[in-house]
Amino acid sequence: MKLKLKLSFYNTILMSIMVLLVLGFMLYISDGVIATSSQIQLKSVVESNADEIEYDDGKLELDDVDFLRNQVTTLIYTYDGFLIAGNIKNIELFNAPLIHNYVTSVEIDNENFLLYDYLVESRRHDDVYVRGIISTTAFSQTLNRVFLIAFLTLPVFIVLSGIGSYFICKKSLVPLDKIIQTANDINSSDDLSSRINLPDCKDEIYDLAMTFDDMFDRLEQSFMAEKQFTTDVSHELRTPITIILARCDVALNDDLSSDEKLESFEVINNQANKMKVIVNSLLNLIRLENGLQLCDFQEVDLSELLEIICEEYDDVLPENLQLKANIQENIILNLDYSMITRIVSNLIDNAIKYIGDGEEICVNLIKIDDKISLSIKDNGIGISSDNHDKIFKRFYQVDNSRTVKEHGSMGLGLAMVRQMIILNKGEINLESELGCGSCFTITFQI
Ligand code: ADP
Repeated sequence: MKLKLKLSFYNTILMSIMVLLVLGFMLYISDGVIATSSQIQLKSVVESNADEIEYDDGKLELDDVDFLRNQVTTLIYTYDGFLIAGNIKNIELFNAPLIHNYVTSVEIDNENFLLYDYLVESRRHDDVYVRGIISTTAFSQTLNRVFLIAFLTLPVFIVLSGIGSYFICKKSLVPLDKIIQTANDINSSDDLSSRINLPDCKDEIYDLAMTFDDMFDRLEQSFMAEKQFTTDVSHELRTPITIILARCDVALNDDLSSDEKLESFEVINNQANKMKVIVNSLLNLIRLENGLQLCDFQEVDLSELLEIICEEYDDVLPENLQLKANIQENIILNLDYSMITRIVSNLIDNAIKYIGDGEEICVNLIKIDDKISLSIKDNGIGISSDNHDKIFKRFYQVDNSRTVKEHGSMGLGLAMVRQMIILNKGEINLESELGCGSCFTITFQI
């Protein structure tokens, strides 16, 4: 059964049970209510009539007495029980004994009456009794008719409440239909760009739809990233594979001299090595991104490590390049030793690769407040601002980079650097301007 049918069914059952309970309760207390309200009405009429009894020159004045008011019939008796005024057909009601300030219940021919007698005392004249009579059967009959109508209209009420509930549930669940529809669209057409986009109404279903939209966003992003990754990898590997295959064809030609064949094998060897580097770098990056490469944190004297790295580079740098080290002493941090070494080497390698006409690379290490700042700065070709974020993505290389082809770069280095910095709980920032050099700053919180 669909949710809206279920909800309207339960709602109708609940409403019907509640109405039945209320009617049953009213039926249960109705007799008591009728008796009490009849008594109140009876006493009030009798006592107000008693107040109207006057004597004029010893003569009883009953002009102001209301003998039939609010369904109460009034009779006036002498103290000895003789009827002075008022009229009643039923002899039993007329003959019932007079008791001052007392309500008597009498049943005659299945009709219930309440009698109330009130003695009006007078010092100078004869006392008189005022009797009020009211029938409670009329009240009960009216009420019974009301209950009968209520019970007869109950099925109509149930049907109307069922239909009403169904439409309310249907309207409330429209957003759920939209969620199902969107999920089905994505499922059937593989189009991850569909979104639920419910109008803002701050209820639970809206929150659910927002959560789904966020989830679809993330799914789309990771799907696109995977797609991009597959495209990039195939693109990167296609060139060396094509070259290797072409060179194999050449090498298999019997007419070639052994020198020419040797040259082909060298090309094949180079390309195979390039593929090996790509595959190894990719595996490294995937291990880093998937958290498969765990950090081996230990206390690292960063100042000492940077001194050593700079000295090693000093020995191999071309003559026109200078590596300056501006390192604050005794900076010790909890880091993965091999990762921090790879991060720094990678950034210095890049500075050397992309130095262009520049001639200076600076490695700075400084403690500022509760932060350690490590920067590698060069005065090389620089990076335009629209590429600042992109260069940290896999396989991204700045198009007009002069040195890309010369150095056989792949665009994986900075992606790995960033991932390793994240694993070491640091942040990386880039300040760079085209033609003015670049400065990569890594910050660690102490
Ligand atoms: P690769 O150097 O292998 O191409 P990276 O991920 O290390 O890959 O760098 C991505 C791109 O960022 C490079 O292709 C280059 O265009 C740019 N880049 C990186 N470092 C520098 C730098 N110090 N100066 C100028 N450009 C740089």
